[in-house]
Amino acid sequence: MELHVIDTGYFKLDGGAMFGVVPKQIWNKTNPADALNLCTWAMRCLLIKNGNRLILIDTGIGQKQSEQFFGHYHLHGTTELHLAIQQAGYSPDEITDVFLTHLHFDHCGGAIVRDAATERLIPAFKNARYWSNERHWGWATQPNAREKASFLSENILPIQESGQLHFIPRSNAARTATELGFDVWFVDGHTDSMMIPLIPYRGSTLAFMADLLPSVGHIPLAYVMGYDTRPLITLEEKRQFLTTAEQEKWTLFLEHDSVNECCTLQMTEKGIRLGNALKKGEW
Ligand SMILES: [Zn+2]
Repeated sequence: MELHVIDTGYFKLDGGAMFGVVPKQIWNKTNPADALNLCTWAMRCLLIKNGNRLILIDTGIGQKQSEQFFGHYHLHGTTELHLAIQQAGYSPDEITDVFLTHLHFDHCGGAIVRDAATERLIPAFKNARYWSNERHWGWATQPNAREKASFLSENILPIQESGQLHFIPRSNAARTATELGFDVWFVDGHTDSMMIPLIPYRGSTLAFMADLLPSVGHIPLAYVMGYDTRPLITLEEKRQFLTTAEQEKWTLFLEHDSVNECCTLQMTEKGIRLGNALKKGEW
């Protein structure tokens, strides 16, 4: 299995919203806020070559929203997704599978593009199967008022209209095998039925953490985002997941950490804490 980090750039979100009940005096040390109280976050995707399959996990925010919309998020360091894939040595048309951890716009915006000639919204990867799951799809296409601003129909509905939508089956166990060469761990605290890929990596596991663990600053259990729809469920899911990850010495891939691509964990007297923070080229 060959892995390529796909950097699509950075955006900004309110630091308080990102850390929930944690006081600014604490989170500002690891994630310094600007004058508008905004912190910088990455939108880091992963490309996996596994035999005949070329799998893209998440797609960043994309480019089709209005300037007004993007203005809220202070995009910078942006690399167009197709270009980033080419820099990794592949053509976008070679992508066989697009795996979407969940359908919030900063994870799936790049999955759909506006066709320049026809103005129609079409899949950015014409030869790919797009993977979500039935429960999350239902949740995202009939959004609650809390998440409505994160589930944008223009990112979601064209996937189904194209005929390229497929669902990962969800079993009763938290961990489910897939046909993609990695297992998936389902969680419901951030949003309903988010999927965490567990990728075989150097004899252990690389977990693509999505919004279960946005950055190394979120490792202590109570550091749960204000965005999470079910914070107490997230807390319990983090406890179970991070305990397993620490015991089995997994490497955690951080989609939103603006500095570190990955991290490991260690058990301390205070509970699970950061082991090593790993920047580009260090893992
Ligand atoms: Zn999210």
